[in-house]
Amino acid sequence: MRVLLTILVTAVCFGVAVGKVDTVPKKTIALFTPEQIQRARHRLANEEPARQAVQDILKMAQQWAQFSDDYLRETIPPPQVPRAFNISFSGCPVCGRETFKYGNYGFETPLEKPWKVICPNCKSEFPSNDFGAFLKSGMKDRSLLTGDYPDDGWGWKKPGEEKKYWFVAYYCHWHWMRHIIPAVHNLARAYLLTGDSRYAHKALVMLCRIADYYPDMDHNKQSRYATEFQPSYTGKIVNAIWETGVATNLAEAVDFVWDAIDNDTELQRALGKDAEAIRQHLYRNLLMEFIKAIKEYRISGNYGMHQKTLLTTAIVSQHPELLKWCVDYILNNTGDRYTHEGLQFALVNLFFREGMGHESAPGYHFIWNQEVARICDYLLRANVNLFGHPTVKRLFYYPFEMSAAKGFTPTIGDSGSVDISRIDLPAWMAEIAYRQYGDPLFYPLLPKPQNNAGRAYTQFSDLFQPDFPPAPSAQPNTSRYERSRLLGDYGLAILRGGQGENQRALTLYYGWAGGGHGHYDRLNIELFAFGKKLLPDLGYPQFAADDPEPPGWTQHTVSHCTVMVDAQRQANLARGRLHRFAQSAWVQFVDASAESVYPDKASLYRRQTAMIDLPNADAFYVVDVFHVQGGRQHHYSLHLPGTEVVFHGIAFSEPRNGTLAGEQVPFGKMYDDPQRANAASGFHGYTGSGFAFLTDPQEAQSDRPWLASWRQDDIRLRIHWLPTQRTRFIACNGYPKGNRANPPLKYLIAHTQTEGAEPLRSTFVTVIEAARSRPLIRNVRLFPLAPDSADTVAIEVSHRYGRDVVFLSLTPEKQTELPDGIACSAAFAVMRFDNEGKLGQAFVTGGEVSWGTWRLQAHDLQGNVEQVLPDKHEVVVNLRGNIGDEDLLHRLILFRAGEHQAEYEIFRAGREGKRWRLWLGDYEFLRGRALVGGIDEAQRTVRTPTVLALDAVAPVQGMAVSNEARTAWWRLKSARRGEVALDGDAPLTPLSADADGDGRAVLLVWDFGTGDSVLIPGQADYRR
Ligand SMILES: [Zn+2]
Ligand SMILES: [Zn+2]
Repeated sequence: MRVLLTILVTAVCFGVAVGKVDTVPKKTIALFTPEQIQRARHRLANEEPARQAVQDILKMAQQWAQFSDDYLRETIPPPQVPRAFNISFSGCPVCGRETFKYGNYGFETPLEKPWKVICPNCKSEFPSNDFGAFLKSGMKDRSLLTGDYPDDGWGWKKPGEEKKYWFVAYYCHWHWMRHIIPAVHNLARAYLLTGDSRYAHKALVMLCRIADYYPDMDHNKQSRYATEFQPSYTGKIVNAIWETGVATNLAEAVDFVWDAIDNDTELQRALGKDAEAIRQHLYRNLLMEFIKAIKEYRISGNYGMHQKTLLTTAIVSQHPELLKWCVDYILNNTGDRYTHEGLQFALVNLFFREGMGHESAPGYHFIWNQEVARICDYLLRANVNLFGHPTVKRLFYYPFEMSAAKGFTPTIGDSGSVDISRIDLPAWMAEIAYRQYGDPLFYPLLPKPQNNAGRAYTQFSDLFQPDFPPAPSAQPNTSRYERSRLLGDYGLAILRGGQGENQRALTLYYGWAGGGHGHYDRLNIELFAFGKKLLPDLGYPQFAADDPEPPGWTQHTVSHCTVMVDAQRQANLARGRLHRFAQSAWVQFVDASAESVYPDKASLYRRQTAMIDLPNADAFYVVDVFHVQGGRQHHYSLHLPGTEVVFHGIAFSEPRNGTLAGEQVPFGKMYDDPQRANAASGFHGYTGSGFAFLTDPQEAQSDRPWLASWRQDDIRLRIHWLPTQRTRFIACNGYPKGNRANPPLKYLIAHTQTEGAEPLRSTFVTVIEAARSRPLIRNVRLFPLAPDSADTVAIEVSHRYGRDVVFLSLTPEKQTELPDGIACSAAFAVMRFDNEGKLGQAFVTGGEVSWGTWRLQAHDLQGNVEQVLPDKHEVVVNLRGNIGDEDLLHRLILFRAGEHQAEYEIFRAGREGKRWRLWLGDYEFLRGRALVGGIDEAQRTVRTPTVLALDAVAPVQGMAVSNEARTAWWRLKSARRGEVALDGDAPLTPLSADADGDGRAVLLVWDFGTGDSVLIPGQADYRR
């Protein structure tokens, strides 16, 4: 409590100090030193690449420096003019949603046509009245609202439509974002780069006018979105998220021109204020307003955004108390919104151990990475170095780790598109990483300096930075990112294969998709090969806003390569469970389930997927088996990159009208949800089938294998369908981004249903084959198995080099006899026979396989944790049985305690007598760090203000818990917001001890602990 109190007191004092400040503490520019400014000016004068890097900044500054002071003051809209990031979700009043072909913000807002927006599609101009004249009348003279599309600032209403079209507000929003803010920022930057006081004067004219208006900016009362959609939608000039950028840029601008105020007598004369009064005006009405707005969440973005604004503003203010408070706040704040948790808590509680923020979508969680990287770099100015933190380090390795195949990051959640999805480490992050960690991996990402220059320039701030460090003496080691990988905390298996141009990857996502921008996509697979997405996820919806498309289609289970139960989307975003992950040079295998996404419905919802190389470097296939039990109907869906698909062995009906939902059901209608079917908003929460987004359905019934093939240039993709029962097959079209402006994909769906009382049991089996030039697979067939063995699938794949027998089972202990004397009792096995019938290669995991007298064994290893050394990233385990000299390198290890399971990869293994010492990569084992509040010994609970996402991300019961000194240990019973409950009867008092003397006692939750059971899936590879 003492700590909380201290923070509160500081905050209150600080509030008083800021409110009553008489003299401005800011003396001079704070963000760059005089040496840095000299360096930048020298480079600009002498190095062409430096000039090129900032030429757009200088060009815009020159353009705006020519405007009169009066024009600059007048062009800045007062708070009374509303803002809107969008005109309408209906698009353009003339051409409708066609306009979205040009993006969500495609309407032009030309500076030379004040208050006019122009449709990029039909070129219509809105509004019809002269809003500038209306504004001059104090927004009072309504006789000025002339023409067909008049807008008084609060939008124009089209007869028959519920929502308005916000032309003026859209212009206003984008006038700020496209013109005013960049102009001020660039004028100030141009001054810094050139020392030309003309730029500083123009920037100051604008900054002073913005400071006049800024305190009254209130997005709740002055925006389209708060008016029409969400009254709590907050912000200042723009919405709270985008305002983080606005305020950061304005704070920088204030800093850069600060030293010019004294000599700007023209400005002082025009405003009737002396230099000190101008400084007070900017300090109070901009800088201190930013701090105030951050505290009120009016400047509040994704994790890290407002922290950056806060730190920038505090540094710029040169107020020592404020800076101290901000640094402490950024590190140690807790008990606030999760986006405001201090780094010491957030890095543990809100980041996956692989180094991404707690969001499903790479496009979003990588924002966390960038913002935190920037803050860590900024914090160096305050003598705080967080680069040694394991999770901070992962922030920089993440794009390598997450890369699926050359050029692709998995398209999970609202991220990427059907063609592209790629997260690259930006050059500035690579530079930070290379300086901090010295890993040669980062060096190639630094842009090549030209003409013996000391560095390259990609952005303004580069001109101020030192020369690049020297090149590394060693080559980068990328092997770690070419093998298959399991991102066990995030919940993604990446099966990788092939080299160079033939690189490929299959990803299976089973992680927690909460935290925003996640899809109902558990157990979704994506396939990337030969530089193309072969099973593409749709990625980012048309709008991340209230529209039928995201909840009905893009974010819905139906658009993904997974199974839908009872024509309902997955019920939640819960994490699935990994059962097995195994890899070798030619075979990769993953087995995961997610029954929790269909609670009370599915008792089995589990996918076993293998990627198997063919001897040709440019050909491979995927065996996909999806087991489902529960509900009355199942839809297993895959989709190809285009609609030019040829079918063999099946006779589909002609495409029919309407949608898959029915001939009479129009596109996009939420036909199976009475509340939303005819609604104009409130679409989120839709849980129906999403079938109205699938068009041109064709149908066929079959219980025989059939083939769908697709080709583009030399890339061949063929899906062999192997029904295990009579199945209704559907081929139909689904559109990326849902608005039918982009070419559709071919969706292929296997549909099973039951009329009986028993829950439906389905086993879906496909073999997905990809090759360059010629397909190599001749035939694929299912081996007939005993009728009661639905848990087991055996497939024969005949190809140019012989035949493979592939075996997958949920009951590895059960022995299955296959033709030709093969017997399997394993989770997964593959045997490759050559054209002479000789066994050439085999792989097995979780059991054994035999053929005549030949036998290959790979039983799972079991044991328990003896010691955990988190600072060394090591664990010491006892393994039972006779293990021999088994190689544990790159093997999966599962830690289990109670309901909790943690999945890691073994990166180093050493034997010490009966024990094994395993190094698990430099990942953080800590999963929770909570400030200790009140302790209730009787209830065995600990109160905490800290935002713990533990129970949302994964089952937690059984996790190891320790005090701050790690001297006392417990097991976790539950961790709900505000309260941690512990098992056992050891006293809880050791939890209140503050070991490091920082005035805070924290409780630590670990991914695994001493006594946890351990499972290392067995695997064995045979080559004749
Ligand atoms: Zn139009
Ligand atoms: Zn998706």
